[in-house]
Amino acid sequence: MNDLERELRRVVRGSVRFDPASLLLYSTDASMYQVEPLGVVTPRDPDDVIAAFDVARRQQVALLPRGGGTSLTGQTVNRALVLDFSQHMNGVVEVNAEELWARVQPGLVQDELNAHVRPIGLLFGPDTSTSNRATLGGMIGNNSGGSHSIAYGLTVEHVLELDALLADGTRVRFGTVTPAEFEAKARRDGAEGRIYRELAAIRAEYAEEIRKRYPKHWRRVAGYNLNELVKAGDGPLNMARVLVGAGRHPLREYPGRPRVLAVDSRNRPLRRRADRQADPGPRA
Ligand SMILES: Cc1cc2nc3c(=O)[nH]c(=O)nc-3n(C[C@H](O)[C@H](O)[C@H](O)COP(=O)(O)OP(=O)(O)OC[C@H]3O[C@@H](n4cnc5c(N)ncnc54)[C@H](O)[C@@H]3O)c2cc1C
Repeated sequence: MNDLERELRRVVRGSVRFDPASLLLYSTDASMYQVEPLGVVTPRDPDDVIAAFDVARRQQVALLPRGGGTSLTGQTVNRALVLDFSQHMNGVVEVNAEELWARVQPGLVQDELNAHVRPIGLLFGPDTSTSNRATLGGMIGNNSGGSHSIAYGLTVEHVLELDALLADGTRVRFGTVTPAEFEAKARRDGAEGRIYRELAAIRAEYAEEIRKRYPKHWRRVAGYNLNELVKAGDGPLNMARVLVGAGRHPLREYPGRPRVLAVDSRNRPLRRRADRQADPGPRA
């Protein structure tokens, strides 16, 4: 047993898998790539995520979050410690039927969210073709859309807030911030402050360029949403929406450092099912 496995077994309550069969299973996803991970953890809760994260940081290994593993460009395979959120962190935490939002754990499968809200006549819109496997965490990572995306848009349009763990171990919530709140956060120490400072610098230097040259095509899912950064103008900015889609990098661009993890997320708007034309109902 290597040090990484030994340390993880000591602190993580979920399963810690380093056996050859598990490594083989997690060395593929729906893409054409195959890379054996260092190990696999299935966290039970955010504390387990933080525990695995601390070990990975001490041992200097990359972390790789994974939902259903249905990505097509190798997003969920690498020489990293895989965190599989789909096993245990897959619940609906809260639904607010009045305000049309839900708070969910990242490993929740989209069809299961919709099965949960169907009895109260609601629907989470972006219907990825893989909706019976795709998780909300993975949809947020990829900024997924679906066959009704012309009607319901992309995942970015449905995210209100993200709870995240930053590379320095700070747990933060990204949501809507007023300009004054943005400035206050930019004065903070650590990774959170740096994110706000660097975004402010990007906006100051490139706002015009982003407005002029950002592709106008709306079905565009290629990393950080810099257009969201400038769209807000002098008004409130939804930081979560800048980050949605950040997981959609080709394999070779994975940095060898821990990445931002969404450990909890709140999505909206759930729609009233009657709004959905020709609702196909649950998939077989
Ligand atoms: C046949 C087929 C059809 C498809 N059709 C569509 C489609 O219609 N529209 C579409 O957009 N895509 C489509 N896809 C791609 C894919 O299914 C979707 O993007 C899906 O939403 C990914 O969800 P997942 O749970 O499998 O994510 P994963 O593949 O597990 O992960 C996706 C990304 O999110 C990151 N991630 C996952 N969980 C977390 C977390 N908790 N915190 C931080 N990051 C996280 C991962 O690291 C990765 O970068 C299709 C794929 C297949 C094979």
